[in-house]
Amino acid sequence: MIDDDSLRETPLRPETVAVHAGRADLAALGVHAAPIDLSSTNPLPDILHGGDSYESMANGGHPLPDGGNVYARLWNPTVARFEEALAELEHAESSVAFSSGMAAMTAAILSHTTAVGKHRIVAVRPLYGGTDHLLDSGLLGADTTFCAEDEVSAHLREDTGLVVVETPGNPTLDLVDIAAVVAQAGDVPVLVDNTFATPLLQNPLDLGAAMSLHSATKYIGGHGDVIAGVIACSEPTAQALRRVRAITGALLHPLGAYLLHRGLATLPVRMERQQRSAEHVAAWLAEHPAVAEVFYPGIGDDRGLVPRQMRGGGAMIAARLRDGYAAAEALTGSVRLFTHAVSLGGVDSLVQHPAALTHRPVAAEARPGADIVRLSIGLEDPEDLVRDLAQALARVAAVVR
Ligand SMILES: *Cc1c(COP(=O)(O)O)cnc(C)c1O
Repeated sequence: MIDDDSLRETPLRPETVAVHAGRADLAALGVHAAPIDLSSTNPLPDILHGGDSYESMANGGHPLPDGGNVYARLWNPTVARFEEALAELEHAESSVAFSSGMAAMTAAILSHTTAVGKHRIVAVRPLYGGTDHLLDSGLLGADTTFCAEDEVSAHLREDTGLVVVETPGNPTLDLVDIAAVVAQAGDVPVLVDNTFATPLLQNPLDLGAAMSLHSATKYIGGHGDVIAGVIACSEPTAQALRRVRAITGALLHPLGAYLLHRGLATLPVRMERQQRSAEHVAAWLAEHPAVAEVFYPGIGDDRGLVPRQMRGGGAMIAARLRDGYAAAEALTGSVRLFTHAVSLGGVDSLVQHPAALTHRPVAAEARPGADIVRLSIGLEDPEDLVRDLAQALARVAAVVR
């Protein structure tokens, strides 16, 4: 990225990488902001070279230098710049971007199960409701066994192609010991959904995971205006994922890729500030009489997983309300600064009820309780957020009394 020995000797800090990564070709193009390449097709040099390049990309490879990009379902330079930057932040060789987090999960499943003659997945709950739904549905031709984190090795079979974990887990911020699961999985690749932590707080590949998946819709985009997914991994794994993407077509649009790449530059400062505010809000909630329990990474972390595998607890909080569903209904209906909405990780704060919404498709025995709400802490002043929650919880008390 930068050609100077004094800069190359020590690795650049993530804050610097976030600003500069994926921009190596811009100066030669004579531009400073990354261009948005909207071409759906590209002029071919000649049949032979164009065809060879097509062949390479349809099998998950890169465009050949003298063959061109051919067609935007196979390759797009704006998307490739974002992928290069995300890979660098995740300490990965490559990354592959998709039209949504669920499209990314679908490609990870297909490439590691049916595409290679394996038909089983082992997954540790809790997971995002959509991921749980996809795995539980068997829709992609693979059967999933759900188990506790220390039971992974006991459930592996000859045809297990993938182990799926999410840490911190959605919605109750449960932590999974990534290195311990990797050790249990042996030769079976482990996918970690890293959406809540972002590459700034956790790098699963450094702990032996094969893939780090993000719903880039959340913190990476950070402004609530892009739906996207991305997986950081080795180049051979990236080829398998790009092959699925090229064949099935779950592409990230270049306008989305541009916004995600731009969003990366502010990801470190957003995470730092949102995390600091979340710590403040979590501590305040823990003292509130209407709140029975607060879930935040680091609270009740008996195994010391936060210091071992994370660089902070992040900016998501879950809370168990003493007066259950009625309190959740009153709270979500009374907030003024928080928006009552699903999704998370943006500049503005959100609150939602997982059991009724994000985790609705999850089997009853694994669904979060009806007394749990999930909060995504944004960039507002933390005291203003606390004042909003205070007035909303005061209304809760009036309603449930
Ligand atoms: C939102 C989310 C997903 C799904 O991502 P989409 O971009 O909505 O498809 C996957 N995992 C986690 C942890 C999420 O929060």
